[in-house]
Amino acid sequence: MTRCLDCGAERTADQCAACGLTSAAAEVMFRRRFLKRTAVFLGGSLAFPYISQIYPPLDLDWMLVFFGVLFFVALAVAVVLDRRARSRQDLEVLKRIYAGFIPLPLILAATIFINGKLDSKSNVTYHPTTVDSRYNMPGIVRGTRRIFVRSWRDGQRYERLAVDADDYDRFRPGDPVFVGVEPGALGIPWYYGVYRH
Ligand SMILES: [Zn+2]
Repeated sequence: MTRCLDCGAERTADQCAACGLTSAAAEVMFRRRFLKRTAVFLGGSLAFPYISQIYPPLDLDWMLVFFGVLFFVALAVAVVLDRRARSRQDLEVLKRIYAGFIPLPLILAATIFINGKLDSKSNVTYHPTTVDSRYNMPGIVRGTRRIFVRSWRDGQRYERLAVDADDYDRFRPGDPVFVGVEPGALGIPWYYGVYRH
């Protein structure tokens, strides 16, 4: 049994009885929608790392791992979709799975944005701690810079602060510092700034 690539109805002849498209026209329609969805997914995927540098959650690195897995699974689904469309195979299940992935980066980005944007500056709490080490990985866009400090949270040894280039250069291991943390409007604590004692 074959299904129409565009509307998903069962197809017995080359022309779909439900939407009237031939298999070639249905593939064109499918590809058009596929490209639009992929563009939305990639847009969100660019927004998430960008916004997470403006309002970096304390647990940013775990979120980036989660985001990375999500990104590559969606990419794998997209590649399989493309191949199956080319050979005119049934796409219905994969199409639905892919559609589920499309809004996720945007939702993640919007969550981090609202969490930081709606938070008030008067909520900042300052935790005294000590710089333990630093980590710098040059990247294509802005790179990854982390200052590791001893944690003030229960059950956590270190905090990995997503600092900018200035803060990264200002501090050395052993420096006593205050770390400013905002509680987050949605309850996701985020890193506000690091200051000298
Ligand atoms: Zn159809």
